[in-house]
Amino acid sequence: MTSPTSPVRVRYAPSPTGIPHIGNIRTALFCWVLARQTNGQFIVRIEDTDRSRYDADAEKAIFESLDWLGLDWDEGPGKGGPHSPYVQSERQETYVAAAMQLVESGHAYFDDTTPEQLHALRERQRAAKQPPRYDGRGRHRSPQEIEESRQAGLPITVRLKVPDHGSVSFIDAVRGKITFELRELDDFVILKSDQMPTYHLAHILDDHAMGVTHVIRGDEWISSTPRHLLIHQALGIDPPTYVHVPLILGKDKAKLSKRHGATSALEYRDQGFLADAVFNFMCLLGWSPGDDTEIMTREQIVERFSIDRINDSPAIFDSEKLEWLNGVYIRNMDEQSLMARLLPFMERPEAEGGLSDTVERPIDRDYLMRLLPLVHERLKLLTEGTETLDFFFADNVSPAAEDLPGRKMDMEMTGRALAAAAELCRVTTPFEPEQLEAEYRALAEKIEMKPGQLFSPIRVAITGKTFAPPLFDTMAAIGQERCVARIENALKILRSSTVAPAEQ
Ligand code: GLU
Repeated sequence: MTSPTSPVRVRYAPSPTGIPHIGNIRTALFCWVLARQTNGQFIVRIEDTDRSRYDADAEKAIFESLDWLGLDWDEGPGKGGPHSPYVQSERQETYVAAAMQLVESGHAYFDDTTPEQLHALRERQRAAKQPPRYDGRGRHRSPQEIEESRQAGLPITVRLKVPDHGSVSFIDAVRGKITFELRELDDFVILKSDQMPTYHLAHILDDHAMGVTHVIRGDEWISSTPRHLLIHQALGIDPPTYVHVPLILGKDKAKLSKRHGATSALEYRDQGFLADAVFNFMCLLGWSPGDDTEIMTREQIVERFSIDRINDSPAIFDSEKLEWLNGVYIRNMDEQSLMARLLPFMERPEAEGGLSDTVERPIDRDYLMRLLPLVHERLKLLTEGTETLDFFFADNVSPAAEDLPGRKMDMEMTGRALAAAAELCRVTTPFEPEQLEAEYRALAEKIEMKPGQLFSPIRVAITGKTFAPPLFDTMAAIGQERCVARIENALKILRSSTVAPAEQ
C-alpha cells in the first residue's frame, strides 16, 4: 500500500485513564505528520466512556503532551469543528441509538447475564481447560425475559452477534493482509449496562461520523480489529484504512516500562529534553526515511514521512540516542534561545533542581549570556544548566580537599601551587582570559610545575569541580575578587585537612 497523497482525516483518540506513554503519543505524532503532509486534518477525540477509569490528570497530561510537542489539532476539544463534540461521553445518544438500530436489524441483542453468572461460566471453562468466552446464552432470551430482568434491576447489556463460522480479513497498511477466523470470537458487548458504549462501538461510530480515512494506532489493537470489521458490516459502512504501528521495546527487547526510565513525553520535558529533539526521536520509533538520516526538522519529516516505511517489527527505544540527539539540538541552538530554555530550570527552587536558593532571582541575564559560550557545547540536557553553571553564581565554593591535588601532586605541592596562584590572582591586570593564561603559564615555569599541575588545583578551587569549562575564561567571568577568595579558601581547606591525598 502506498502512502496517501490526497488529504487524510486522521485522529488521535486517547482514553484518559493514565498518563499517555511515549508509544501512545507516537501515534498522535504519526497522525499529525500525515495530516500536515497531505493537507488533511488531525482530529483529537477523547474516548472517556469508561467512566470508572476516567482520570482528569490523565486528560490534562494528554493535552499538555500534544501542546509541548507542537502537535496542534484541527478539530477537537478546545478547537471545535464540524463534528463537535469531540468527547465521547458527550455523544452518548448516538451510541445508544446505533446499538438499538443493531438490535432491531438483528445484528445485536440484549443480554441479562449477570456478572456473577459470567464469572461462574469462566470458572467452569477454566476448570475444563477451555478458553474463557461468553457462550451466547443471551441470544435465546425472549424480549419478555429481558424486560423482567430490567424490571428486577438486573444489568442489561447489548452484545453483537458474531457468526459462528467464516472469517474476516483486512489489509493493514503496515502488515498486509490479516485474516481472523470468527469461531475464535464470542459475542461481545457493544453497549454496557450503564448505557455507555464500549470502545469498540463508540470509536467506529465516531470515526465514521467524523470521516476518518486512516486509523493509525498501536498494534495491540490488531486483535480487536475483527470485532471492528464486524461492527462495520453490521452497520453497513466501510472500514477506514488501518495502519497499525509497531510496539516500542526497551534495548533489552522487553516492553517499554518504567524500568527503562521515563515513559511519558512530559517526563522527558521535565528532564530537560527539547520538544524538537523528542519529536525527531519519536518519529524514528517505527519509521525511517529509508537512508541513514537521523536528524530532521519537522518540515523534513513532514516531507519525507510515508506509511510504506513504517516498520512491522517492534521499535527499540534507545535512551542514549535520545540524549545524544538532544545534545545535537542544543548545540544547534543560538545562545539567546538556549538561555530562554535554560532559565526556567535554573530559576526553580534549589530543591527542584534550580540554582542555590541564595542566588537572587531573576538570574542576571547578561551574566548568563556571557557564560553560555563556555558550556554550550557540553550540554546535553536543559537540566544540566544548574550543575554546569552553579559555581559562577555561588558566593563561594567548598571543594573537597582530596579533589584539589592534580596528577602526581602531593599536599605540599598543591599548597605551593595554590599559594602562588592566589598571589598572582591578586595582581593580574587586565583580568582577562589571554592575560591570565600567559601569566599562569609563566608562573608554572617559575615554580617548576607542569602547567596542567598548576591549573588543576586552581580549577577545583574556583569551580569546586574537577571537570569544568575552560579555566581562564571561567576565572575572567567570575572576577578577580571572587577568584582570590576562592583560591584562598581552597588553601585553607587544604591546610586544615588531615587527609593525605592518594598518589594519583
Ligand atoms: N481509545 C483507544 C486508546 O486509548 C483508541 C484506540 C484507537 O486508536 O482505536 O488506545
